[in-house]
Amino acid sequence: MVGALILLTSALAQDCHYQNWDWSVRERRPVNIQRVITSKAKLTPEERGTHAGCSVCEEDQTELQVAGLRFKMCRRHAQRAELALKQLHQKGFPLKEIEGYRVGKSKGLVNAQGLRTQFSNHSYGVAIDINASLNGLYENCVSFSPACRLIRGGVYDSTKKGAITPAIAELFKAQGFKWGGEIQGQQKDFMHFSPTGD
Ligand SMILES: [Zn+2]
Repeated sequence: MVGALILLTSALAQDCHYQNWDWSVRERRPVNIQRVITSKAKLTPEERGTHAGCSVCEEDQTELQVAGLRFKMCRRHAQRAELALKQLHQKGFPLKEIEGYRVGKSKGLVNAQGLRTQFSNHSYGVAIDINASLNGLYENCVSFSPACRLIRGGVYDSTKKGAITPAIAELFKAQGFKWGGEIQGQQKDFMHFSPTGD
């Protein structure tokens, strides 16, 4: 009984650490970089997020290593992402860059200071970027054409080795992820997978 009480108390007092920043639309770089120390019990709704068990806290993340690349993802999603990445690697797909967990406000409305105001899905460790230098993020891009504007990463050409194709995206879809390269709306994020695609 005492043991159970101690366990309960330590779970409630569980620490939460993360490094945050705000994306400056004007300066096109992260600003207000800060280390946050709080407790799981005191998380705000936005810090907790909407993906069960995957908050912005480092404590919810685990480190993975695939093809010699190290990155972090939320424990609840890590195994499924790792499986899809290992299948890719086994097919001979060149994995050059992988980025998972990375806390930062790079989404949502821009405030009066020119800063984005919402955490991206990477902030919760539920999104993963693959080979950013070959699979750029485009704006003004309802459907992919030369009129789309590249805002992050490198030019997307589906015929290049290391580019994400619809066939490659199927491996991730089978594990419950959606591909940012085929979501509805103004953005196409060819490097990006998450449960919602954004
Ligand atoms: Zn991404």
